[in-house]
Amino acid sequence: MTGKVINLDLCYLYPKLLNIYGDRGNVLTLSYRCSQRNIGLNITTIGIGESVDYEKFDLYFIGGGQDEQQLLVANDLQEKKETLIKAIEKNAIFLAICGGYQLLGKYYKTPDGSELKGIDALDLYTVAGNKRMIGNVLCREIESEETLVGFENHSGKTFLGKSLKPLAKVIRGGGNNGEDGFEGVRYKNVFGTYLHGSLLPKNPFLTDKLIKLALERKGISAPFINIDSSIEDIAHKKAVNLSY
Ligand code: GLN
Repeated sequence: MTGKVINLDLCYLYPKLLNIYGDRGNVLTLSYRCSQRNIGLNITTIGIGESVDYEKFDLYFIGGGQDEQQLLVANDLQEKKETLIKAIEKNAIFLAICGGYQLLGKYYKTPDGSELKGIDALDLYTVAGNKRMIGNVLCREIESEETLVGFENHSGKTFLGKSLKPLAKVIRGGGNNGEDGFEGVRYKNVFGTYLHGSLLPKNPFLTDKLIKLALERKGISAPFINIDSSIEDIAHKKAVNLSY
């Protein structure tokens, strides 16, 4: 416990295996922007062989990784599949980046043709393409029309089932598959995306959206304080102007 009046609990999945391009920065940013509002964020790390109590957590985070780490995680996730699906269906807030995002779907077919099973929480699948999508992405979140910036590096091409909505429209970059002009997925309170960078430090509106959703889900109606985001806004603007 943090000693704060309001506390949120975050489950950080596989921090040792899935943490490339500073994905951990997303958790640090959530913690920072919570603390600026006097909200405590309790962080529990969960690794291979450890079970998840889905009733305990308000938020979940899973980062990206190389295929080798993804394989270890994919196998272990099968043990956690039911609890994670329950959490998602009960509207827990879930941010999943790149390799972690892929594993929330049905499967990820790797460049050597083998298939990593996902947990099938989301109706999507990923197939390795023959060209990596690498660069600075600019897109627009569909719900808010805010710009989102981040860095992508993946060969996996993700395709959403008809029932799923993408998170954003691509302005610059590959996004889900380099073909349909969409980036990520939004399902209930799940935000799946290819954006590393890390994502949240330079997209403060998204960080705040996740925190707000977590408070709403808990039935906490305290006013949501605006905090100074001037440094974050500078980082965001700089990233908007980067080339791919
Ligand atoms: N291995 C996956 C791909 O290349 C995920 C990479 C990542 O998480 N950055 O598609």
